[in-house]
Amino acid sequence: MTQVETLATLIAEAGRIAIFTGAGISTESGIPDFRSPGGIWSRIKPITIQDFVASEAMRREAWNRVFSGVMKWTGAQPNAGHYAIARLVALGKSRAVITQNVDNLHQHSGVPADRVIELHGNATYAKCLDCGERHELEILKQSFLGAGEIPTCRRCHGLVKTATISFGQAMPVEEMARAREEALACDLFLVLGSSLTVYPAAGFPVMAQRNGAKLVILNREPTDQDDRADLVIHEAIGSVLPAAVPTN
Ligand code: ZN
Repeated sequence: MTQVETLATLIAEAGRIAIFTGAGISTESGIPDFRSPGGIWSRIKPITIQDFVASEAMRREAWNRVFSGVMKWTGAQPNAGHYAIARLVALGKSRAVITQNVDNLHQHSGVPADRVIELHGNATYAKCLDCGERHELEILKQSFLGAGEIPTCRRCHGLVKTATISFGQAMPVEEMARAREEALACDLFLVLGSSLTVYPAAGFPVMAQRNGAKLVILNREPTDQDDRADLVIHEAIGSVLPAAVPTN
């Protein structure tokens, strides 16, 4: 049996699949892996949440980065891997997609927003740090580029930041709890495009496996957890996953 056939069988036999995606699925859409060597964080110093809150100059710099497009976090299109995942959700094979990505491509490919668990937030909109009010980037962009206004909350005048989890910012409590629930409830944990090095997220596969789930890792490069997986495939997601997911 080929690796794709083995993957197809594991997917067919699974009752509930927890899907976990990392930068690898987005690089196939042309979004750079910002944590990798040569990635954005090796060229531009990240702005921590502490810096952002403490300094107007840092907030201005952060918004400059967002609106100049230098981060390249957004604006890409979903690829075949994203659509295969959306099929798994539509088929009822998977209840939720846990992702480390902030690019909104799972939602864009058709996964309902309430079924995407974003561990690192979302870069396609902004949120008030105080009251949580959602703010659309297009509107903030006009007053930032036009009048040089650093975004503040229209509701409470608090500080507004992209809805990403910044360096120094705590992991989101609700999302972490939901991800943990998915990991414990699944009988197949499917890792797609993650090197499984960033904790606490990298702990979910271990958690799932200890609870009896099978573990599949599909990632171009070897990962720290390849040894413990039931199946490891070092290929592009878009060239493997679509063939292993039923089309209806
Ligand atoms: Zn607010």
